[in-house]
Amino acid sequence: MIKTDALIIGAGPTGLFTAHQLKLIGLNCEIVDNLDKIGGQCIELYPDKPIYDIPAIPECTGEELTNNLINQLKPFDIKFHLSERVEEVKKNNENWKVKTNKGTEFITPNIIIAGGVGSFEPRKFSPKECEKFENKSIFYSIKDKTIFKGKTVSIFGGGDSALDWAIELSKDSAVNLIHRRDEFRGAQATVDKMNELVKSNKINLFTKYQLKNVSGKENLESIEIEHDNKEIKNLKTDYVLGFFGLIMQLGPIANWGLNIDKKTINVDTEKFETNQKGIYAVGDICTYPGKLKLILSGFHEGALAARACFKLARPNEKYKFEFTTSSKSIKNRLGVKSD
Ligand SMILES: Cc1cc2nc3c(=O)[nH]c(=O)nc-3n(C[C@H](O)[C@H](O)[C@H](O)COP(=O)(O)OP(=O)(O)OC[C@H]3O[C@@H](n4cnc5c(N)ncnc54)[C@H](O)[C@@H]3O)c2cc1C
Repeated sequence: MIKTDALIIGAGPTGLFTAHQLKLIGLNCEIVDNLDKIGGQCIELYPDKPIYDIPAIPECTGEELTNNLINQLKPFDIKFHLSERVEEVKKNNENWKVKTNKGTEFITPNIIIAGGVGSFEPRKFSPKECEKFENKSIFYSIKDKTIFKGKTVSIFGGGDSALDWAIELSKDSAVNLIHRRDEFRGAQATVDKMNELVKSNKINLFTKYQLKNVSGKENLESIEIEHDNKEIKNLKTDYVLGFFGLIMQLGPIANWGLNIDKKTINVDTEKFETNQKGIYAVGDICTYPGKLKLILSGFHEGALAARACFKLARPNEKYKFEFTTSSKSIKNRLGVKSD
């Protein structure tokens, strides 16, 4: 069980800056995110797009903003729990007990939900039998490509991820690429490269096919794919990869007894607290009169929620407002010399 002053749910720009604000005032925090990387929408949806309305940064991409926020956290030791979704939040005397889908448990007086538009989940195959093989023979993202070496891999999808992995894995594996249309959405250079590999028999291409069925005992042995004209093919395969993009789901947050309005959480504008004491919501996921879904609003909301956490985390101390330019204790925490 991990004890912390505050638990942040969501490692998007709001969660990251909120962590900075908590650490500046001397509180500990840990961050959980369902994604396997830090940055929320900025990294997942628009890493290369320029943003023009971050105060004092005339222009930066989603990726640059994320890297800057991570750099700003460098002086602090913050533990990230990536690829973990917070599932359960329960009252435990004066604290909250929080559990993730991987079984990690936290005990904390403060939870800051910076969950954006909810957790990003991969779109999955529809045949029910696929669940049995998930994370064994069927994957929706790749953590370790070496497991595919010398094996037959069937890749489904028509975007950049499906094409990039088909090209990459064709170096050391037998690759079937299966797409339900005959046009691909990937970058033209990638589509051209894939077509070259199809011509040289390095990739077996099946268009206008979809997954119909999977079979195997412990591990996957073969799959059935069905053409638009109902023709069925049986392919022997060791692994199946599905790249159909992500869906955003409010998911478990909906079950925590919070006051939810159109997939957002109602908060006050003094502490950004929800209807539950010690649970705050900041960034895109919160709502109040006048709310703007902008990154700069999330920064302000996180700064105020962090101050509110102080009272519950340090009930016997009084929070003292200080500027970073002049506070000795803040400079100590940042590891910089005081004048
Ligand atoms: C194409 C595009 C362009 C944009 N351009 C701009 C712009 O120019 N300027 C601007 O200010 N804003 C812009 N935005 C909006 C901006 O990206 C959002 O306001 C911002 O990302 C919100 O940050 P956040 O940290 O609140 O949430 P997010 O960035 O959505 O991050 C939330 C994180 O929480 C995680 N999460 C959710 N639920 C759980 C759970 N139960 N367990 C674990 N993790 C969970 C998610 O996986 C996600 O990583 C743009 C958005 C898009 C899509």
